[in-house]
Amino acid sequence: MNIQVKKPPLTIRLCGPRGFCAGVDRAIQIVVLALKAYGAPVYVRHEIVHNRYVVEGLEAKGAIFVEELDEIPVEHREQPVVFSAHGVPKSVPEDAQARNLFYLDATCPLVSKVHKQAMRHQRLGRHVVLIGHAGHPEVIGTMGQLPPGTVSLIETVEDADGYEPADPDNLGYVTQTTLSVDDTAGVIARLTERFPNLSAPAADSICYATTNRQEAVKEAAPGCDLFIVVGAPNSSNSKRLVEVALRAGARRSMLVQRAAELDWNEIGDIRTLGLSAGASAPEVIVDEIIAAFKARFDAEIELAVTAEETENFLVNRELRGVPLTVEDMAWVNGVRA
Ligand code: SF4
Repeated sequence: MNIQVKKPPLTIRLCGPRGFCAGVDRAIQIVVLALKAYGAPVYVRHEIVHNRYVVEGLEAKGAIFVEELDEIPVEHREQPVVFSAHGVPKSVPEDAQARNLFYLDATCPLVSKVHKQAMRHQRLGRHVVLIGHAGHPEVIGTMGQLPPGTVSLIETVEDADGYEPADPDNLGYVTQTTLSVDDTAGVIARLTERFPNLSAPAADSICYATTNRQEAVKEAAPGCDLFIVVGAPNSSNSKRLVEVALRAGARRSMLVQRAAELDWNEIGDIRTLGLSAGASAPEVIVDEIIAAFKARFDAEIELAVTAEETENFLVNRELRGVPLTVEDMAWVNGVRA
């Protein structure tokens, strides 16, 4: 006799927007197009985006990831090196030129905009306050746009409380693009309270993709037994989504890189699951997670859509018009949201 075991019901609240942003999409396209235009190997300084699935997929196509330019062998100096979406200090393109390397910059245009805003503050004689996380490549890149001693990093409200600038009336701030919108507002409020002449950047530094993903999580999280964010532990925007979900009312929240990582004992008996993905997480992994839950639960999907995104950033001039094969297009589309 074939006894069918009834699966427990589950509602999956699927956030939109989720996953790839225009900056990540552009950076991945740059590496794929460079491989097509110049052949393998194409060197990439730092993980092009913080996601192992993407990095390993590009490695399989002929990309070689390095942390520093001196890791590129002399015999490969004709091959391009791509700078990651997070941006690089000014010293990196200078070093590439000194080594006679051909580089393609995949810095997200919204990160470049923050660089310009920081340089503008400095040009106007202001000491720059950068709100962000120490050690993150974007923060290293932004600090590296300015001469040493002209920028101070503030991470928390406590840092803002203890900050003692040399000239409190002559400060201008910018922020990392992937911070928590609410936490950053708290830090800015505290700094403004202490330094009323603090100058804001011309436009918000936290990018549209970070803001939109956090808004969708806030909409979906209240009442969720568990909230899963697809993303890597070194992805700043993914980690922020985990925090936002908890604050917005999810009972538990976790970062997951692949479905194989899911610990079903830990997940336990749940009725409502929230699901989103950081800006560097491919949609194929979201599909994989949904399939894993559908195998164990009688799951229905409920969409939590708070914005439509139409942003699209052009690739570098040298790569426009490079044709991709059907296979390359299928891979790029497969990782897209
Ligand atoms: S998260 Fe924002 S700043 Fe970062 S790559 Fe995406 S669009 Fe650009």
